[in-house]
Amino acid sequence: MTMEHGEDCCVKVAVHARPLIGDEKLQGCKDCVTVVPGKPQVQIGTHSFTFDHVYGSSGTPSTAMFDECVAPLVEGLFQGYNATVLAYGQTGSGKTYTMGTACKEGTHVGIIPRAMAALFDKIEKLKNQVDFQLRVSFIEILKEEVRDLLDPATVAAGKVENGNGHAGKLSVPGKPPVQIREGSNGVITLSGSTEVHVTTQKEMTTCLEQGSLSRATGSTNMNNQSSRSHAIFTITLEQMRKADPIMASDGMPIEEMNDDYLCAKLHLVDLAGSERAKRTGSDGLRFKEVFTSTEDFWPLATS
Ligand code: ADP
Ligand code: MG
Repeated sequence: MTMEHGEDCCVKVAVHARPLIGDEKLQGCKDCVTVVPGKPQVQIGTHSFTFDHVYGSSGTPSTAMFDECVAPLVEGLFQGYNATVLAYGQTGSGKTYTMGTACKEGTHVGIIPRAMAALFDKIEKLKNQVDFQLRVSFIEILKEEVRDLLDPATVAAGKVENGNGHAGKLSVPGKPPVQIREGSNGVITLSGSTEVHVTTQKEMTTCLEQGSLSRATGSTNMNNQSSRSHAIFTITLEQMRKADPIMASDGMPIEEMNDDYLCAKLHLVDLAGSERAKRTGSDGLRFKEVFTSTEDFWPLATS
């Protein structure tokens, strides 16, 4: 996990060691990572590695991960701080599970659904003083292509295809593809991705579910493409403080207070398997272009 906005360093790294899953147990696999008691440190053989946090295995229970790593970022949104949470690791390490990118109602609650819940809790508390506007976008970067997972046409097509038992997405003719652009100031922006206005947690969850469906649909037919694609779920929070005129002693307003406006984005990223990122070739090229060319990518602005 990586995040902006911290007190000393703006990037924090937490490790989550997932438990062995059924297949691994059947094959007789054993945990090879031990956590040094009381320290955010893991040991693999004779090597030890220290991080900002370590969860899972014999370390801190992973339920603490959201509270310690992500809840402060959701709080930060309300002060206008952008933030990014990245899940990095090889295929099968638990990125999608931990992020909750492919969450379905009633199943495991990952970071994205929890972030939504925390966001709406806070909005509920503040809604008398502040007007809120929420937008979400959900994109997938696969090789050279940026796919808009919330494109209404894609979502509809994915559903129809699913119904027929044929997995796969249709690209709709006539719709310009999402483009990655670099402005003269070096800021990387995405243009043409769908931004859905949402007002309730349920609506936001629906966006996540529908988008994941578009992503998952693509993956079944194309040999687990999800391990080769980055998925970025972005929540944009706009706030407008409700005008509250300052009264003089005679009860007349002195001046209309300027509306206090804040806008911040939270990017929740389920990266492609890290084993792919190391590769050269077109995947590697795009990965570099998109993710390491400029720190301005985080936060990624959408125009
Ligand atoms: P990735 O997205 O990194 O390829 P997944 O999230 O798909 O990996 O996880 C791989 C498998 O491990 C899945 O079957 C998932 O259910 C399981 N898994 C991942 N994290 C956990 C966890 N914390 N507890 C139990 N099972 C997990
Ligand atoms: Mg995954």
